[in-house]
Amino acid sequence: MTLIPIIKIGHPSLRQTANPVEKFDQELTTLVDNMIETMRINEGIGLAAPQVNIMLRFFVIDKKLINEEWEAQAYINPEIIDARGLDSYEEGCLSIPGIRAEVDRPFMIWVKYQTIEGKTIEEELEGLLARVFQHEYDHLDGILFIDRIPFIRKKMLESQIKEIEGAFS
Ligand SMILES: [Zn+2]
Repeated sequence: MTLIPIIKIGHPSLRQTANPVEKFDQELTTLVDNMIETMRINEGIGLAAPQVNIMLRFFVIDKKLINEEWEAQAYINPEIIDARGLDSYEEGCLSIPGIRAEVDRPFMIWVKYQTIEGKTIEEELEGLLARVFQHEYDHLDGILFIDRIPFIRKKMLESQIKEIEGAFS
């Protein structure tokens, strides 16, 4: 396993749109394994490819942290087809260390994605798994959770965010 450096806010890649995964090869499998290891070492529950400066549309989620019987999983070329309900929950991000804030998101989502073997899956997700999926999905379009918090709250966090940007740029 190889740990991969996680880029932080201020890095331009975090604001770019990622490209679809086309090759389901050994390189992708190795990358997914390394991202899962990197996520766990950094105590994250999810990690999107753009966060390790790889501009491809996939992310990993450590589902084991949600349910002991589940395993960490890669979601490749994901889509959110439908969303229902509303839920507020405090989020953080490995690319914005030290910042946490309540974010409103749908509670239940209907998603479509490909597995590491290239198999297409459609399923309904809810609760924390739906939340993490949406957070990671945003990364594929260059969106960060701080873009989804109320303006006043973002204003309050502005100097802290600037400090992180300064430290890592
Ligand atoms: Zn994040």
